[in-house]
Amino acid sequence: MDNIIELKNVCFDYGNNEAAVLKNFNLEIKRGSFIAILGHNGSGKSTVARLLNGLLLPSKGTVCVNGINTSDDNAEYFVKSQVGLVFQNPDNQIIATIVEDDVAFGPENLGVKPNEIKQRVYNSLKAVGMYEFKNHSPHLLSGGQKQRVAIAGILAMQPQCIVLDEPTAMLDPMGRQEVLSTLTKLNKENGITVVLITHYMDEAALADRVVVMDNGEIVLDGSPREVFQKVEVIKDAGLSIPQTSELAFKLKEHGINLGSVLTVDECVDALVNTLTEEK
Ligand code: ADP
Repeated sequence: MDNIIELKNVCFDYGNNEAAVLKNFNLEIKRGSFIAILGHNGSGKSTVARLLNGLLLPSKGTVCVNGINTSDDNAEYFVKSQVGLVFQNPDNQIIATIVEDDVAFGPENLGVKPNEIKQRVYNSLKAVGMYEFKNHSPHLLSGGQKQRVAIAGILAMQPQCIVLDEPTAMLDPMGRQEVLSTLTKLNKENGITVVLITHYMDEAALADRVVVMDNGEIVLDGSPREVFQKVEVIKDAGLSIPQTSELAFKLKEHGINLGSVLTVDECVDALVNTLTEEK
């Protein structure tokens, strides 16, 4: 798998005399991967998200999307068409009064021909399971449905990568579930690279790779299974760990080793095995 995005020695500050948010930050994102970026508020996650699609440009170092430097003259159109950004609040991303028109907005701006726009809009709405709502008013939809329309709007621009900055933070549990299963499907079935910025551990557990940020730096990087075993580093970064990992960690302190458990089912199996062995 080659890299779709590469950040090399990236420095970034908001030019407000505060310390730099990122200093010599490096990150490579493999094409087709699903990566979660975790970190407490202010650790620099949103800044990274905005650097990935050229909304922000580094003050030093390089961000390359499919080999094109986002700081190059004329790179903006290419980069924004390859990497779509979805934000936290779906209400701020919806601009039209009909779902179909809203999803068409992005490809219209890219100058796509009307016939093709219609096809892209329908395909994108189908991909997020919102096709039957194409004639609805977006404002009457639930939060999860609105966020899926926002994702369809990005998909209609046919990006290779979608970056989502806490897309479920304002949603109820059902809305969160809808958005997460949409992302998993887009990644697994359509091969779209997904970068999910979140502070929910259970969301990060769905990814192939978890990157934990603290104070503008990467403090952990690995599979969810590897990362969630580093309980102390995660807590030092101001985050909590999944309840299953927490339970395994506490039991280990008391001499009971459940091994590496991530999902609730794995945790239950490991507990049952341990209890059966003890008898
Ligand atoms: P996170 O997404 O992890 O909460 P951010 O990237 O939003 O982190 O913020 C990192 C740092 O940059 C914080 O100290 C924040 O106050 C600062 N920051 C973020 N956006 C701006 C901005 N538009 N202007 C000035 N400082 C900002």
